[in-house]
Amino acid sequence: MIASMGKRLVAEGCGKYKTGPGPVWTEADQKSYAAWQSKIGLREDDADGIPGKLSWDRLRVPSASPTPSASGGRVASPVPGHGISTRYRVKGPHWSLGYHTGADYAAPNGTPCVAVRSGSMVRSGQDRSFGNFLVLRAGGFDYWYCHLSEQTVKRGSVRAGQKIGEVGSTGNSTGPHLHFEKRPAGGGFGSDVTPTW
Ligand SMILES: [Zn+2]
Repeated sequence: MIASMGKRLVAEGCGKYKTGPGPVWTEADQKSYAAWQSKIGLREDDADGIPGKLSWDRLRVPSASPTPSASGGRVASPVPGHGISTRYRVKGPHWSLGYHTGADYAAPNGTPCVAVRSGSMVRSGQDRSFGNFLVLRAGGFDYWYCHLSEQTVKRGSVRAGQKIGEVGSTGNSTGPHLHFEKRPAGGGFGSDVTPTW
């Protein structure tokens, strides 16, 4: 149990083991677990390296992997036919955290945006920075679709490749593009991870 948990922590980039996870709970396990808790946005007592229900439930969710979706095909881009125009983690003073928290896909207004994985739409809204946004939850992660002109599917199940919205330039945006961001499920702004799927 501890060994398999340790392997997952290593896979998530939180393992600090010298010899790999073993069968007993060690100080290294606790440190790695605390790193994992911080990574998923927990703080203070919830990030003490002692497994609590919050973090434990999250750790048991299999990590996202680029396996083909239930619909059969792997989605090549959240904006089919369009590639990344501004990469993740690029630094710049105009971003509130000093770096780009997602990947941008520049495309004309109205270009379809699709679910990158099968999952469920758990949130939609309007934000001063992100404009009209949608959140797709799949595989223990949230995928944020921002600056949309249209929010086609706001709630419920979607399949990989299904259209969920359209590219726009709402919110703090200098031109039509999709800002595509990935966070651990339920994670707040700043808990972003590399936006792969
Ligand atoms: Zn962006």
